Formats: sequence, structure tokens, C-alpha cells
Amino acid sequence: MLKIYNTLARQKQGFTPLEPGKVRMYVCGLTVYDFFHIGNARTLTVFDMVYRWLLATGYEVKYVRNITDVDDKIIDRANKNGESIDSLTERMVVAMHADTDRLMMLRPSAEPRATDHIGDMLGLIGDLVDKSKAYPASNGDVYYAVREFAGYGKLSGKSIDDLRVGERVAVDGNKRDPLDFVLWKAAKPHEPHWHSHYGEGRPGWHIECSAMSRAELGETIDIHGGGWDLQFPHHENEIAQSEGASGKPFVNYWMHAAFLNMDNEKMSKSLGNVFTTREILARLDPVQGGETVRFFLLRGHYRSEINYTWDLLLDSRASLLSLYTALRDVPPAAMQIDWEHPYAARFREVMDDDFNTSMAFAVLHELRAEVNRTRSTELSGLLKALGNTLGLLTQDPARFVQGGEATADAAAEIDALILQRQEAKKARNFAESDRIRDELKARGIVLEDGAGGTSWRRA
Ligand code: AMP
Ligand code: ZN
Repeated sequence: MLKIYNTLARQKQGFTPLEPGKVRMYVCGLTVYDFFHIGNARTLTVFDMVYRWLLATGYEVKYVRNITDVDDKIIDRANKNGESIDSLTERMVVAMHADTDRLMMLRPSAEPRATDHIGDMLGLIGDLVDKSKAYPASNGDVYYAVREFAGYGKLSGKSIDDLRVGERVAVDGNKRDPLDFVLWKAAKPHEPHWHSHYGEGRPGWHIECSAMSRAELGETIDIHGGGWDLQFPHHENEIAQSEGASGKPFVNYWMHAAFLNMDNEKMSKSLGNVFTTREILARLDPVQGGETVRFFLLRGHYRSEINYTWDLLLDSRASLLSLYTALRDVPPAAMQIDWEHPYAARFREVMDDDFNTSMAFAVLHELRAEVNRTRSTELSGLLKALGNTLGLLTQDPARFVQGGEATADAAAEIDALILQRQEAKKARNFAESDRIRDELKARGIVLEDGAGGTSWRRA
């Protein structure tokens, strides 16, 4: 049985979906004001892995990941660029899809955009006002009254009084309690705004997820995910909004992905160590890069922080290359996974134990050694099929091992040189065959002579 660490319960729990065989999952997505960075990529990739594992083990999954397309950062960036908000967010959504595709993520079942759901947000705010869980203030904002929701603080494990001391929240004359948070912001000049019963304005960030989750998945869902930092206040506020309105549990399993750090430091603009995913991909081989980054991001357990360094990325590439080399040398048989097979059973056991990809990768490497030893096409097929459940080992092995030089022309030229070298060897002209090998080596191409002939790879 699948076990999931539920942040709300602070322990691993057996997973029982609301409806047998079906999963409703919501993950907080990106604010589309810039290309996403490698930290965002970790959280996105972790939940893509969760989605794929649920699918691989037979669940029907509706996976919703929202797009925040109205927010202060977006408004500021569009003004700075001298472009419209629509043009900025449209460009960034296209870029997001290009980059998530390169990291081999599946598209979610739905990607609702905040600006398409303003009506749903106002509906939810209306329900909260009717239940006295929210109130319009004299400045035109609408606030959530945290004191009216008994469960406030249950996810972060804090009481309202602890939070007030800990957070040093500023006193604001419009709020009844300093922890009250905004659901609807009164319009400011030159900002996008919508008409409402409370006056012109735009939604707060937190209400977006409660409203879109309800619209797409219903009042109670199975899994809700996001990065570690979202537990407070974002997810705490989502619970207050959703449960305050419905009177029912909002989420049965809360999952949070730990952070990615840069060279052991927190990533931040002021430290200048924020790298976008596309900057990193541009420095890697075009064929190997996306899957290398994916492998790197999934190598550690999702609840452990991971560290980004260039060396760790190259090390991930080497590890992935060793798996692909086994698949190249022993052609994988096409197959459906037999979960009774000892390797498959162990892989499943660790993955079902709160998605332990770190242990699952260890199983893949043991299986690789076995493939190399036995030359079994069945085991090679199993290696590929197990990797595929995590969105790995899906490419042509020879092409992956050779890397981006495998553009048709370059590959044809290398093949021609390998042939010339074979001819030279046959004629016992070893000076010439060595010269050709050295020439290729100087270009970063390593030749490997094996029983089935000579193959090549990038050094
Ligand atoms: P944002 O666009 O800043 O709201 O972040 C989008 C998602 O990325 C959220 O789920 C964040 O928790 C997550 N995130 C932001 N920074 C990091 C990081 N350094 N490591 C992992 N996840 C992050
Ligand atoms: Zn959210």
C-alpha cells in the first residue's frame, strides 16, 4: 500500500483516496512573471514524479496545477518591461511549457489561470462573508477573519497567539486582527481590476487556490502539494478559506517538497545565485540536458533539501549515462512490468514508501549491474520500464549516449571515420587507425571497441 507523509498529521499514513482508484490532486503552480528557476523546477518535478507514480500503479488521476497570472510581481515586471500584462503572462506560459517539456514533465490534467476564475473567487468570498468568516473593510478590501476559524494554525502547528508574536505582523487599521489576510484588494489606479459587489478590485493570492481547487476538483480533495515555504501562510489560509466555506475537510494528504539550495546557500536575488532552468539547460548537451536535470532533481528524497552545484549535475549525468549504456549494449525487450519480479517488487516497495526515489535509483543501478553481467534483454527491458515510471530512460539509448553531436551530419561523419579506421586496421596500418582515434578524441568523441563492432560516445 502507498504511504504518504502528510504534513498535517506529521507522519506517514496509508493512502486511501476518496473514491477507490481515483485521485484528485492539486499543486500550487507558478506565478508567471519570469522564467522559472531551478528551485521551482524541483517542486514541479517532484509532483510530476508523484503524478507519474500514481498513474503507473493504476490510479486514474486528475492533476490540477494552477497558473497565477495576476499579482504584484507580474504588474511590476510588465511595467518595467513596458509591455502589457497579457503579453508578459502569455510569453511566460509558453516558456514554462517549453521548459517543463524539456524536463520531461507530463502536462497536468488542467492548468487553470487565476484570471479565468475571478467569478469563482468572488463566489467563495461571498460564502465566507455570509458565514461571517470574512468582512469588507472601509478601504474597499475584503479580509478573512482568522479568529472566526477554529482550526487556524493546524497545518503549521501554531496557535494564532504564537503566530502574532512570531510573525511580528504589522498593525493595520482596516483589519480586525493583524493576522487577517486579504481576499479582495480594492482597485488601485493603473492596475488590472474586476467588478464586484465590494467595488472594483482584484483577488488576493490565497483565494485563487481555494476557488480553483473547488471548481476543478470539488470541496474535498485527496492530495494538495507545493513547496515547503507554502505551508504558512499560503496553505494555512487555503484551509481557512475552503473549510470555512464548506464546513468539510479540504485536503486529506498535504505534501510539501523541500527546498533546493545553491552551493549550500539559500537561493535569492540579493545573493545573485538564482539560475533559471533554461540557463542551466543551455550549458548542457541538448540531448542529455533535460533528463540530466530531471535525474538530478529526483535523486534525493523529496522531503530532503538538495544542493545544486555544477559538479553534482555532472555526476548525475554520469550516473544516467551508465544506465543508458547498459540499455545500449543490451537491447531492452518491450514489456509490461511484472510487479512480482524481485527487482520490480523492491522498486515498488521503496516508491510506495512515501516516494523514495533515492532508494528507487539505487535499485535501478543494481539492476544495471545485473544487465551488464547477464546480458539479459528481459532485465534490460525491466530497467527501462521501471525508469519510465519516473519519466526516465525514455530516449533512444545510442542517441543519448552519443549526445547532441548525434545530429545527422555529425553522426554520419563520425561513422565514416570509424569505417576508415576499420579499413586501416584490416590493412594493419595501425599508425593510421590510431591517428583517426586521436582525431576523434580531440573532438571529445571516445571510441569503444566491442564484440559487436565499434561504438562512440561523448567524453
Ligand atoms: P513561486 O512562483 O515563487 O510562487 O514558486 C512556485 C513554486 O516553487 C512554489 O511551490 C514554491 O514553494 C516553489 N519554490 C520556490 N523556491 C524554491 C526552492 N528554492 N526550492 C524548491 N521549491 C521552490
Ligand atoms: Zn496555492
